Amino acid sequence: QNINKSYYMGEEELPILHDVNLTIHSGEFVSILGPSGSGKSTMMNIIGCLDVPSSGKYLLSGNDIDDLDEIELAKIRNKEIGFVFQNFQLLPRMTALQNVELPLIYRGLSFSERQQRAKAILERVGLAERMKNLPNQLSGGQQQRVAIARALVTEPSILLADEPTGALDQKTGAQVMELFEELNNDGRTIVMITHDIKIARHARRVVHILDGHLTEQTGQEVE
Ligand code: ATP
Ligand code: MG
Repeated sequence: QNINKSYYMGEEELPILHDVNLTIHSGEFVSILGPSGSGKSTMMNIIGCLDVPSSGKYLLSGNDIDDLDEIELAKIRNKEIGFVFQNFQLLPRMTALQNVELPLIYRGLSFSERQQRAKAILERVGLAERMKNLPNQLSGGQQQRVAIARALVTEPSILLADEPTGALDQKTGAQVMELFEELNNDGRTIVMITHDIKIARHARRVVHILDGHLTEQTGQEVE
């Protein structure tokens, strides 16, 4: 609600987001589409509780993030958000299975429960045969599937993806979008950031951002 975000370079204020109003309902698949420098990652950082607005109100699952301290913010982030990035960010010396298990180690789950959950989600993203492979033994699209599995293994309410197809060719990118569509059909909330209109159109609603202003929306908001 009325979100403004500025960065500060010494004394100088750089306003980036201007009066952004956006509601995303549980179960929606929304893409935020805009050119380079328009403020997409700035918005993603706020949506994902990696950064806070300069003014305005951000509510996540009913929590006003203004009321939270750093530790509470990190807790909400870990519980509610699964992040997927353009360059996958997998640990290179760990297998696909170990990469997906990692967030569960931090949560103190037992070995057998970790294995069970990580294997199930890798099967879900179509990588049953690739669990023992290291990232560099996988194609880009397969690595992104591992990253998506890792983001989902903690069962976050929202999958938040910043240019998830940016490092993939068109065909592989479209396959990752098909996976997003399936996950959304399963009820998963997905927020995806992209500069590519073809990719954006896989979402059910496209929100356009230009110079830090939300300019138009296409598709339907589903409550
Ligand atoms: P891209 O598609 O290239 O990733 P974007 O839409 O994600 O672009 P942002 O990263 O949100 O754009 O950046 C928006 C503007 O804010 C840019 O002009 C950028 O230079 C500026 N900016 C981003 N982060 C900072 C920062 N930490 N300090 C100062 N300026 C920043
Ligand atoms: Mg960006």
